[in-house]
Amino acid sequence: MRLVLVGPPGSGKGTQAEWLCERLGLASIGTGQLLREAIRSKSPAGIVAEPLLAQGLLAPDAMVNELVAELFRTERPEKFLMDGYPRTYSQAVSFDALLHQEYLKLDAVVNLTIPDDEVVRRIGGRRICSNAACAAVYNLGFRPPKADGRCSKCSAELTLRDDDREATIRQRLNEFHKNTAALIEYYRRAGLSRDVNAMEPADAVYEAIVARLT
Ligand code: ADP
Ligand code: AMP
Repeated sequence: MRLVLVGPPGSGKGTQAEWLCERLGLASIGTGQLLREAIRSKSPAGIVAEPLLAQGLLAPDAMVNELVAELFRTERPEKFLMDGYPRTYSQAVSFDALLHQEYLKLDAVVNLTIPDDEVVRRIGGRRICSNAACAAVYNLGFRPPKADGRCSKCSAELTLRDDDREATIRQRLNEFHKNTAALIEYYRRAGLSRDVNAMEPADAVYEAIVARLT
């Protein structure tokens, strides 16, 4: 199975990616995660990306396309889930060319739909594991950790993401709305797009995604 997850920040892409990958045996490829790693390691891409992520703007298409192409060249995943890539029409065209080169085809593009206000509410409660190798995602309201402030999987401290402040969230939502119509239309024309209502509890969203894949 080869999937793309599309949805605004806070729609639950990371949460669903974790479950889908575990249960369907897919490699999880998250460009937000790749960019945060590049920033942490102070790579040339990371140095350019850091102020953009901090302001809630997208990283340049060419940079993100290259990060993904490099990952496919080195790890050659056969079954995968893309979390947050492609995010623009131009990234979708570039990703198609990469998949074509690798003789791979997408099975579906899951489009998580959710109103902006719910996104702001969810992201306000989001906490992430500070251990980059774990990176588990919690929500103080909906998915609290077993012990306050500690990851239930690896016990590392939970932190707020730098870009999870309300003004930055609004900017990230602007970026999402600006780019998504063309992206979804591209995948709709290819017969791949599957809309899923992300307002339900996370396990119901998961069931709805799986139902749309068969
Ligand atoms: P994304 O990867 O799309 O930014 P996340 O998976 O990190 O989204 O989810 C954003 C926040 O909302 C997290 O704190 C997560 O625990 C919580 N969350 C995810 N799915 C749901 C849901 N269906 N209902 C309520 N909260 C959710
Ligand atoms: P995410 O972890 O998916 O919420 O992404 C965090 C941030 O990384 C986004 O707000 C963007 O600044 C950047 N980013 C992630 N994926 C992409 C992408 N495909 N194209 C451009 N920027 C991206």
